Amino acid sequence: MRDSTTKAMAGPRPVVLSGPSGAGKSTLLKKLMKEYDSVFGFSVSHTTRNPRPGEENGRDYHYVTREEMQAGIDNGEFIENAEFSGNMYGTSKAAVQAVQAKNLICILDIDMQGVRNIKQTDLDPIYISIQPPSMEILEKRLRDRKTESEESLQKRLHAAKVEIAFSKEPGVFDVIVVNDVLEEAYGQLRNALLEEINKVKKTKASS
Ligand code: ADP
Ligand code: 5GP
Repeated sequence: MRDSTTKAMAGPRPVVLSGPSGAGKSTLLKKLMKEYDSVFGFSVSHTTRNPRPGEENGRDYHYVTREEMQAGIDNGEFIENAEFSGNMYGTSKAAVQAVQAKNLICILDIDMQGVRNIKQTDLDPIYISIQPPSMEILEKRLRDRKTESEESLQKRLHAAKVEIAFSKEPGVFDVIVVNDVLEEAYGQLRNALLEEINKVKKTKASS
């Protein structure tokens, strides 16, 4: 069944950022939200993983137990949910509606299962894939980030291979950004979104 809950409050077109863990999604989206703070809003997902140092409950994720998350899913509160690297992740309807209610471009940072599931809904986002220059660089960035245990790192690298293959499937993503030099990747991401950014700015200027 197609989910139209999020369409009911439709404002600007949402944006999905996807790609392997460690590719630079959070880094790029933080830059975007800093430069355009009155244009974008982040869809705060739920997760059962533990917060990393510096992450804040309600800002980066809603950190919940498996029981709480499952109850929410059973209750129909989620647009999509997935198991990634041993933890549950999901986008709640409330998370997207909170951003859309402010007439902001809603950004979803989700894995490939999320992309597949969002494609079954009426959300109609722009799909952007953030890719690392190589597996070697991805591994180095993930290790240098120092957020993962060796076990979690290996799971993420394994998932990354599948995510990279997925991004090559024709028609899945509208834009693919290879995050080699950060400023260049950021420029490409911004360019891909410029039309939507300008639409939101215009609407705000005239209201
Ligand atoms: P993701 O959100 O996709 O898991 P992050 O944004 O956390 O990835 O990036 C992974 C690590 O790589 C972080 O430590 C980040 O600072 C670093 N990083 C991101 N982009 C670049 C880049 N272009 N060059 C070098 N390091 C980068
Ligand atoms: P991390 O633990 O590094 O924050 O995220 C791990 C993976 O989960 C990333 O690929 C991220 O995009 C994905 N993710 C984060 N939130 C969600 C969500 O709500 N739904 C789905 N399907 N994936 C998510």
